[in-house]
Amino acid sequence: MKIFKFGGASVKDAQGFRNVVDIIRRHATTPTLVVVSALGKTTNRLEELATAFFEGNAEKAGELFAAVREGHRAILHELMPDDHAEFSVETEKLFGRLEHYLQQEPSDNFDFEYDQIVSFGELFSTRMLSAYLEKLHVSHEWLDARRLVRTDNHYREGAVDWAKTERKIQKHLQEHYPNGVDRLLLTQGFIAGTPEKFSITLGREGSDYSAAIFAHALHAESVTIWKDVEGLLNADPKFIPDAVRLERIPYREAIELAYYGASVIHPKTIKPLQNKNIPLYVKSFLHPEGPGSVIHSFKEYQSVPCFIRKTNQVLLSIFSKDFSFIAEENLSTIFALFALFNVKINVMQNSAISFSVCVDAKSTLPQLIEELQTEFAVRYNENVELLSIRHYAEDSLAPFVKGRKVMMEQRSRSMLQVVLK
Ligand code: ASP
Ligand code: MG
Repeated sequence: MKIFKFGGASVKDAQGFRNVVDIIRRHATTPTLVVVSALGKTTNRLEELATAFFEGNAEKAGELFAAVREGHRAILHELMPDDHAEFSVETEKLFGRLEHYLQQEPSDNFDFEYDQIVSFGELFSTRMLSAYLEKLHVSHEWLDARRLVRTDNHYREGAVDWAKTERKIQKHLQEHYPNGVDRLLLTQGFIAGTPEKFSITLGREGSDYSAAIFAHALHAESVTIWKDVEGLLNADPKFIPDAVRLERIPYREAIELAYYGASVIHPKTIKPLQNKNIPLYVKSFLHPEGPGSVIHSFKEYQSVPCFIRKTNQVLLSIFSKDFSFIAEENLSTIFALFALFNVKINVMQNSAISFSVCVDAKSTLPQLIEELQTEFAVRYNENVELLSIRHYAEDSLAPFVKGRKVMMEQRSRSMLQVVLK
C-alpha cells in the first residue's frame, strides 16, 4: 500500500481537483490510500466560525458558514455543471449537519467545540473529491478517519492511540478486502476520533501526520506528500529566492529541520515513518514528474546549509528580582511555567544573572509573562526574528546580519542560531 497526501493548496479550486485526480490516475497505479486536507484556507475560516459560535455571535457564525458552503458549492458546480446535484448529496448532508450543529448551544469547552466544527473542513473536501471520482468512474472507498485514527480526548491536539488505530485500520481492510485492496482508498487528514466517538483534530497542519499514522498502521511501502514546491528545499524560496532542492535526506536531518521550524513537513510526521523505515517522498503537484525529495534511512546527508527563518518571535530575559544568580531551582520553576502555558522555547541561553529564551509570539505569552513576573524580573523584545542555519559554513551568516542588531547567538557543531532585531 502507498500513501498519498494532498494539502489544502492542491484542492483550493476546481482546477486543483482536476489536477489531483490526474495525479491519482497516473501515479496511484498500485493500492493507494489518499489523505486530503481541507480546501485552501477553509480551516482558518472554520476557526473563525468556531469562535463566533462559541461566543454566541449567531449572525457572524451564520455568515461564515454561508461563505464556506458557497465556496465549496461553487467548486462542485464548476466540476460538474450538469449533474452536481446528483453527486453532491453527501457533501450537502455535511453542510446540513454543520448548520444544525450551529443551532445548538455551545458547551463551555472551546477546544471541544473547535474540533467538532473545524473537522468539517476535511469531511467536505474528501466528500467533494469522492463525488468527482465517482462521476469519473474511478472506483474508490471514502473512509471516515474518525473511526480509524483513534486518540485520547485532548482536544485540538489529540494523542494517537497507536495500538487501537492499527487494529481499527487493519480490521477494516481485512473485513472489506480479504483478497487485497482493489480500489483507491480516500480519507481525511488532520481529524480523528475520541474514545467517546467525538471528532478531534491533531493540531494545525496535521494532515502530514495523518499520512504517517496510516502508513505506520498499514506498514506502507511509501508516503508521498504532494506539495506546491519541488521538494524539500534548503530554505523557503520566499526568503531565499535561489533555494536549492535537497535530494536525499536522512530521517534525522528531516526531524531536525522540521523541529527548528522548516514548514514543509509537520514535525510529528517523520518519527512514525522512521520507526518502520518507510520512505517519504515530497513532490510537486504542479510538476508531478519531477524528482522531488526523498527522506529515508540514508547514511550521508547533502552538506548544504539549510536556512530556517522564524519571524514574529519574542526574546525574553528573565532575572531574579534581587539580581542574584539564576540557579537550578529557578530554572525548574521557569521551565514548569513555560510548559504550563504551552510556550515552546525555540532557543535559550543563560548567563550568571539572566536566562534568555526566544519563543513564538503566541496568545498565552502575556499570561506566562505575568506569571513569571510574580517571581522574576522579565524584560522582553517583541517582533524579533530567529534564524537557524543547519550545517552552516563560515560565511553563511554574514548576508543576513548586515545592518541588523544581533540580540543573541548560539552555535553547536551543526547548528547556528541568531536572534535578530
Ligand atoms: N486543514 C488543516 C490545517 O489547515 C490540516 C492540514 O492542512 O494539514 O491546519
Ligand atoms: Mg492546510
